[in-house]
Parts: sequence; C-alpha cells; structure tokens
Amino acid sequence: MTSMSDLKTPHPPNWCPGCGNISIWGAFKQAAVNQGWDNTNTALVAGIGCHGHMLNFVKITSLEGLHGRPLPVATGIKLANQKLNVFVFTGDGDCFGEGGNHFIHTCRRNHDLTVIIHDNSLYALTTGQTSPRTPQGLTTKSTPQGNPDEPINPLSLAIISGATFVARAYAGDMEELTDLITKANEHKGLSIIDVLQPCISFNKSLTHDFYRERIYYLGSDYDPTDKDEALARSRELESDRIPLGIFYNSDAVEKGKEPQKALIENEAADRDLDKLFRKYI
Ligand code: SF4
Ligand SMILES: [Mg+2]
Repeated sequence: MTSMSDLKTPHPPNWCPGCGNISIWGAFKQAAVNQGWDNTNTALVAGIGCHGHMLNFVKITSLEGLHGRPLPVATGIKLANQKLNVFVFTGDGDCFGEGGNHFIHTCRRNHDLTVIIHDNSLYALTTGQTSPRTPQGLTTKSTPQGNPDEPINPLSLAIISGATFVARAYAGDMEELTDLITKANEHKGLSIIDVLQPCISFNKSLTHDFYRERIYYLGSDYDPTDKDEALARSRELESDRIPLGIFYNSDAVEKGKEPQKALIENEAADRDLDKLFRKYI
C-alpha cells in the first residue's frame, strides 16, 4: 500500500503556477498510490529540464541523468533489476534534441520501460528556446524571425522505431493520464507517452485553450494493434485535430520484440553479480 503522504518530499513544487508539469506530477502520484509503487519496486529517472524537478517532489528512489541521457540510465537500471517498474521523465528538448539518438535506439531495442515525455514544444528551463518539437514559424528567443524547421512527430518516430506501446495525453486531463501511465507500465516492452504540456510562461501559442479546442479521444472502435493505422493517425498532429489515447499497443509480444535476451539471462543468473562480471568482463 502506498499513500499520497508516503510520496511526499520536503520540497514543495516550484513549477510556475498553472504549469502542465503539475498535473503530470499529480497523475503519476495517483497511479503510484493506486498500484502500490514505492521504493521497494520502482525507480525513477529524469533528464535535464523543468520536467526534471519531478524527482524532487516524489519520494521514490531516483536518478537525474545528464541532459538527454535518461534513457540509457534507465536501461541500465532495468538490466540490473528487471523486477523494478522503471519510469523515465524527459522533456521534448531532452528527449528529441540531446537525446534523439538514445530515443531511436531505445525504441528499436524495445526495453521494458515507461517513458513520459513532458512535451511543451520548447526548452522551458532555459527560458524558451526552439526545441525539435517547436512548430514551424513560431517565434522564440532563439528564432526571433520564426522557427524555420519542421518539428519532429514523437508518435510517428516511436512507432517506426519499434516501441510497442505508443500513446498521447494532454496534461489538463489528469484522470486519463493516470490511467494511461498505469496501462503503459503494465505493457511488457517500451511504453512511450507523449504528454502535451502547456508551458504557460514561455509558449504563448500552445496554451490550454489551444489544446482544448483541438483534442479528442480515439474512440472504442479504434484498433490499437493495427500498426499502419496507428502511424496514419499519429500524423493527424499536423492537422487541426489532435487525437489522444493509445495509438499502438502490440500487447501480444512480437517475435524478436520481447524484452531483451540480456534481461532474461540476467534473471536466470538470479542477479549473481560475480557470475555476470565473469561473463561480460
Ligand atoms: S517555465 Fe514553463 S515548463 Fe517550466 S515550470 Fe514554468 S510553465 Fe512550467
Ligand atoms: Mg520542453
């Protein structure tokens, strides 16, 4: 049993009032309480950015990686103890800028991690520079004439790179996000949740109002095991309608997509580190 007070740290959140990070924090804690995640069964990893403060506000063992590097750190934790629920918090700059290479290869290897992307479409901690998710034409501190580049589509990239659970959420809907985080963790393989997270201080375009006018949920007739359809629907982000929910969930583990061989070998070795060292070093 985990209670909200078990997760409390001495540090009150210092995000700007109204920041989307606050509801991602709330949704994660609610999922942790519902599922009994605590220090005995869960580890958290973050990169660098406003999202990284999350680790100061949730009392579960955690590690903040270098900028863009939370995915390899989390992979190492999972390899060392595959019984842990391992969550990665990362920003759009952290994940697709500095960490773009790691993102592709973590998807390709399909490690059993849950990745929550705090996607505010710019670098917020450094006060509002263009990130790989910034819409084309948006004026930011680093692109005063407007961003000349096309943004990355996180879901399309995750699907074609090999992730087997791919979802989009909106930070303003905590209930749905809590449910998605729970389902993502239940999935055996890499789970990606791209969370549209308004930065109220530096992104005056992608506001709560902007999202509320455009978002809708994939209906019950949508089949998330259809990878081609998932890819097609992921591209709707480029239109005026923004679908939310689980786009792709392989569930039945595809051949060759199973949690890695190394993890299975690790379990067989019963985490005997001497044995592992002798084998690999
Ligand atoms: S700068 Fe933006 S992302 Fe960072 S805490 Fe403030 S509102 Fe949130
Ligand atoms: Mg960002």
